[in-house]
Amino acid sequence: MIDQSVVADFAALKQRGLKLDMSRGKPAPEQLALSAGLLGALEDARAADGTDARNYGGVLGLPEARALFGSLLDLPASQVVVDGNSSLALMHDTIVFALLYGVAGHPNARWSAGSSGGAVGSSIAFLCPVPGYDRHFSICEALGIRMINVPLTAGGPDLEVVSRLVADDPSIKGMWCVPKYSNPSGTIYAEDVVRGLAELRTAAPDFRILWDDAYRMHHLTERKHEVPSLLDACTRAGNPDRAIVFASTSKITFAGAGVAALAASPANVAWWQSHVSVRTIGADKINQLRHVRYLRDRAHVEGLMDRHRALLKPKFDAVEQEFSSQLSGLSGVSWSRPHGGYFVDLVTPPGLAKRTVALAQEAGITLTPAGAAFPYGKDPDDAHIRIAPSFPSLDEITLAARGVALALKVAISERVAHV
Ligand code: PMP
Repeated sequence: MIDQSVVADFAALKQRGLKLDMSRGKPAPEQLALSAGLLGALEDARAADGTDARNYGGVLGLPEARALFGSLLDLPASQVVVDGNSSLALMHDTIVFALLYGVAGHPNARWSAGSSGGAVGSSIAFLCPVPGYDRHFSICEALGIRMINVPLTAGGPDLEVVSRLVADDPSIKGMWCVPKYSNPSGTIYAEDVVRGLAELRTAAPDFRILWDDAYRMHHLTERKHEVPSLLDACTRAGNPDRAIVFASTSKITFAGAGVAALAASPANVAWWQSHVSVRTIGADKINQLRHVRYLRDRAHVEGLMDRHRALLKPKFDAVEQEFSSQLSGLSGVSWSRPHGGYFVDLVTPPGLAKRTVALAQEAGITLTPAGAAFPYGKDPDDAHIRIAPSFPSLDEITLAARGVALALKVAISERVAHV
């Protein structure tokens, strides 16, 4: 039962005229300052093999940048492509290349074949574990690719549901996965789920898993959780070309000014190279070289991530503390306690997420729109709110988390009043 004093507390909070933004998972200024050294001039723009990074060329990336990402991804450099500033852009282009040209080994099967109604992807579908990352879903929506929700369980996507869907429907060409510290639930994929995904029998011979390893190094606890390599599992399962892995330094160095990578089988790397060479004469090798010189090696990157953790952990602790003191024991209310990544998934009783977000906004607290973690922005239960504690200061986060908890309690009490 909610104490009616929450309404008064909430009214008092509104009086404070707050202006807090917890809508996007952006690194805070103190986190960006950790990599200030990157801004220094490159004294020598020659790569290890003599390549002049100031000039054109190298669509697969500088060898040392590929080697660095290879060491972070536990893969040989030859299977890694380093390109551009955004892994999301690489995911977008992967899908667009597949729509335009078909995937590796299936050149005569463009994913766009048979599409109608003006949307290039309307004849195909993607599986979307939910809750998931809104920008993945935006790519599909923009291209007209039908999205099918798959429940995300504690160990990853529900394999039974996935197996049944892909076995029968050849129009299902792809699946989104954020295998570690998923956005927004913090889910860590279990070993049997990784194996199961690699072994899936799919009606579509050109099925691809877009494995977005955005939070691979982004631990919030002492324990560095490991998820087995999907690429290795796919190779063992006889489906070597099924997996395409993505990562970036957006939340290691600078968000939007880091470097991004794609990793895949040799056939997929060759496929990517053939299409990306049409799009560009080469990536920004100056930024790649700067990153290699600054980040050095895996041990150094892990040290940097420890420093990010030191800044982020107290913010996540503040959310946990506020939520547990305000919301513990409330029926239908729960929230994730992530071991890494950038988000907390607050689960409200069904039908109250939108109302809670609207109430929080009235108190000057901006949250990601309710429903954003679902395809088409539609949470069938209207129950998930994504909390992004990274950007505001610790004091602001504490206040904002308290405000969100109060807003949820007010939403619950409104419902009780209407019964
Ligand atoms: N994938 C996930 C799961 C993310 O949460 C984000 C950033 N919020 C991105 C990708 C974006 O990565 P990038 O900056 O490399 O495009």
